[in-house]
This record gives sequence, structure tokens and C-alpha cells, in this order.
Amino acid sequence: MKSNLFENRFDPSDTLTFLKIERGGIAKRDSNKRRFDFKEVYRDATGDDLSQQSGRCLDCGNPYCEWKCPLHNYIPNWLEMVAKGQYQRAAELMHETNPLPEICGRVCPQDRLCEQACTLNTGFGAVTIGAIEKNISDRALANNWRPDLSKVKATGKIVAIVGAGPAGLGCAELLARNGVKPVVFDRYPEIGGLLTFGIPEFKLEKEVLRKRRQFLEDIGVVFKLNTDIGKDVKIESLQKDYDAVFLGMGTYTPNDGDLKGRDTAGVLESLDYLIGNVNHNQAYEMPNYPYTNLKGMQVVVLGGGDTAMDCVRSAVRQQASSVTCVYRRSEADMPGSRQEVQNAKEEGVEFIFNLQPTEIQSTDERLNGVAFKATEPLENAGDEVFLEADNVIIAFGFKASPAKWFEKLGIKQDQWGRVTTLDKPAACNDPSLPYSQRTHTEGVYAGGDMVRGADLVVTAIAEGRQAAREIMAWLDI
Ligand SMILES: Cc1cc2nc3c(=O)[nH]c(=O)nc-3n(C[C@H](O)[C@H](O)[C@H](O)COP(=O)(O)OP(=O)(O)OC[C@H]3O[C@@H](n4cnc5c(N)ncnc54)[C@H](O)[C@@H]3O)c2cc1C
Ligand code: SF4
Repeated sequence: MKSNLFENRFDPSDTLTFLKIERGGIAKRDSNKRRFDFKEVYRDATGDDLSQQSGRCLDCGNPYCEWKCPLHNYIPNWLEMVAKGQYQRAAELMHETNPLPEICGRVCPQDRLCEQACTLNTGFGAVTIGAIEKNISDRALANNWRPDLSKVKATGKIVAIVGAGPAGLGCAELLARNGVKPVVFDRYPEIGGLLTFGIPEFKLEKEVLRKRRQFLEDIGVVFKLNTDIGKDVKIESLQKDYDAVFLGMGTYTPNDGDLKGRDTAGVLESLDYLIGNVNHNQAYEMPNYPYTNLKGMQVVVLGGGDTAMDCVRSAVRQQASSVTCVYRRSEADMPGSRQEVQNAKEEGVEFIFNLQPTEIQSTDERLNGVAFKATEPLENAGDEVFLEADNVIIAFGFKASPAKWFEKLGIKQDQWGRVTTLDKPAACNDPSLPYSQRTHTEGVYAGGDMVRGADLVVTAIAEGRQAAREIMAWLDI
């Protein structure tokens, strides 16, 4: 089906396109406007942009981008299709390796993954792989595209999936495409895990998740939301009633660094703050996550990862009077996406590096600010520095949050509480899959943050899909 959304006027026969057309198609909204709302930062690319930008691909004999992508997406192949204007074929191919292309296109740190590995990232500007993936998949979903599953035979098998985050959705989609019925349980009222209840709208508008949910339901995925496994439904009943169980439950214990004064009023835990804000914007009712409005406040955010960036940029949008991000090491050491740091700077966030927080200080339980020690290589390393604050947000990352029922089930964990799985089968020679997704309990598989520790959307999807493959092999499908 072709529509005006699929229009194309680009001639892809020119092999030197990368010399004539600069990296582009990633226009942002003006920072002076976007800092006043929670709408997405990046604009949609035009059809011409998509084709021309895809035409920059060199189609390297050994596509490093494809290896660096944890899903091993067929990047050069779908770029060629987009260059030729075959947008729907490209969307179909994208979905063969990635169940959430429009989401990865939005939130993957491409500057550390596919685009970093692009051969043109040597002075010519990498192909804008993420933006193309996002736009092509958005267009396919806007046109109600669905994969042709008419030849798929129902196997009669049914798999319970605990957690509707990227790992659970990755597992569910691949099972559904292979005639296995996935039933996904989540304690939250909407699918997505941290995609919905964590990552703010300016990176990922929630309508994107709603469209993806419709797609997944249309191909046979069943969602049972507002259902906490272990509380509302016993894990033993899933083991009894389903052919296999997949756990994709994430990591939710905040790391507070044992920072002195962290219990002072006005000190916020990053995810509580972000979820409270999403719930407020989206009118989800979750009483455990109260809304905090930082309008007019002097805000200091401690940490330098993706979560810290989401907090500083949310505080800016709530019209905090000042927002300062303090990281204990240098800018080059920051673990999150470089482009999100750049976006935060454009939106008015101040960054201070090489300061290690030592204490949150207060008088009569009223927050004064944060004391720091300067770290090397600063000349004044060891000196004390104090920053005033009305609110402090701690964004030091997350530790594993193993459920009480793991032990009873025989699910083993490492010293940090992450679920451990069996060694990978000898037959599997993919270096990016270092272990199997099967837990030490037969029939129970696990993946995503609860196995890897807090990581990325795309790696959680990859583990969910690998678990689906292993489940199907075990069920002899
Ligand atoms: C604020 C923030 C921003 C981030 N930004 C990015 C980013 O820009 N790019 C990126 O790649 N990664 C980002 N990440 C990391 C990424 O979101 C995670 O790595 C990814 O979501 C992990 O997927 P998952 O499926 O393993 O777990 P989750 O997304 O955490 O999903 C787990 C799901 O399991 C459910 N669950 C848990 N226990 C139960 C139970 N007992 N019963 C029922 N349901 C249960 C939870 O409700 C949740 O929905 C960010 C993380 C945070 C916190
Ligand atoms: S899934 Fe992520 S890493 Fe892979 S091609 Fe897409 S944006 Fe790049």
C-alpha cells in the first residue's frame, strides 16, 4: 500500500552521496520552546531526508554497524530500501530483528552503538541510523502496517511473561510470530516498563507505546496489567498453567551511595520523581509515586547517566529556577548518551564535573545544599565545595531487586542480586550472547536488567528475544 506518507523523489544511484549530502535529518525543536513542554525534542524527517540520508550508506562489505547493534539489525539492507523509497519493505525487514524499532530509534545511545561503528564516523558524519529507524517504523505504524502472519501455524503452546518492559515485549513478540501464545503480566497499568514509567515524554511520547501496544495485541500478544506476580497471582500457578515462564522484571532498588543526609525532606530519589511526573502528565493513578513540582526551586542533580539527564531536563520543564548537574568524574567519563547531555546543555542545565558529594546539609530539617570534595585531575582536588539547593535529586543508578519468591523457585542470584542463568550452549557462537537465558529452574527463563544489571532498552530486547528462541527450542517448536 502506498500513500503520500510513502512519497519519494530521491535517485539512489549516486554512490558518492556521502560526499555531497551532510549527515542530517535529525532536526530538533528550538531549545527556547521545547524547555517549556514535555513534547519530543526531535522533529519528524521528510521522505526526501530519509532517502537521501539512507543513500549516504557505503554498504560496507563488513557492516560494523550491524555487529555493534545488540540486535544485529540488517542496517545496510534496510537503508538501501529506504534510499530507493521502499519504506514499507524497510519496515518489514526492521521488524525481523527488532520488535520496537521506533523506540530504539528514539532512545538507543546510537553514539555508542550503531552510529559509532559507522565507517563514515571518521570525519564524514555517521549515517543517522537511529532517526531513519524511528521515522520508517513510525510511518509503518501510522499506516496500520502489520506483518503477514497468515502462514504461521498455532502451536498450542502458551508462555507466561512477567514484566511488560523491553525484555518481556521482545520475548512476547518473537513467540507470537512463531505461533506461541504469550500472556504478559505487569503490575503497572500500562505496558513498557521503564519506557512508560521512567523515560520522560521529551525522549519518548507515550502515544508511541500505545500504538505499539495495539500492534502487539493485533499479532496475538495478551496483556494482563495491574497484576503483581507474587501478590495477585502466585508464580507457582504460572508454572502449572503455562508451558514456560519468562521473567523480565527489571532492577528497581535505587543506589543512594549511603550519602549522609539523604533522608532530608526535599531530597528525591530519581525514579520516584520521574514516575510521579509521568503519572501526573498522563493521569495514571499510582499513589506510591507522588507528584513533585520543582517550579521556582534551585535544583541539584547528583549523577551523570541517562537517569540524571532525564531528571535535569524534567526539572527544567517544570520551570525550576536553576538546575545543576554534578558528576564526580569528568565529562568524558559520563556513562550516558552524549547527545542527551548536549540537549540538556542547550536547555539551560549547568554541569559541574569532578565533584564527589560528601553530605547533604540541612538546618532544623530544612535543606541547605550539598557539600562536595573536588576530585582529580582538578588542581584543587581534596578541597571542599558547597552548592546551595532547595531540592536534591539522587541519580546514582539502580541495584537488583530480586523477588522474595526467587529462592523458593530455585532461581539463583549472584552477589549483587542479579539472576544468574546457565552457560550458553556450545553451538551458539554469537559473542554478543555470553550466556543462556535459562535460569537454574527448568522452564523458567530470564533477561534484561534483572540479569544484566541496569543497562539499555536494546540489550533487554535482545535478551528477551534470545529467551524466546531458547523457550521454543525447549518446547521443540
Ligand atoms: C530514567 C531512566 C532513563 C533511561 N533512559 C534510557 C535510554 O535513554 N536509553 C536506553 O537504552 N535505556 C535507558 N534506560 C534503561 C532502560 O530503560 C532499561 O535498561 C530497560 O527498560 C530494561 O528493560 P527490562 O524489560 O529489563 O525492565 P523494565 O523496563 O524495568 O521492565 C520491567 C517490568 O517488570 C514489571 N514487574 C516487575 N516485577 C513484577 C511483578 N512481580 N509482577 C508483575 N510485573 C512486574 C515492572 O512493572 C516493569 O514494567 C533508562 C532507565 C531509566 C531508569
Ligand atoms: S536498535 Fe539501536 S543500536 Fe540497533 S540499529 Fe537501532 S538505534 Fe542502532
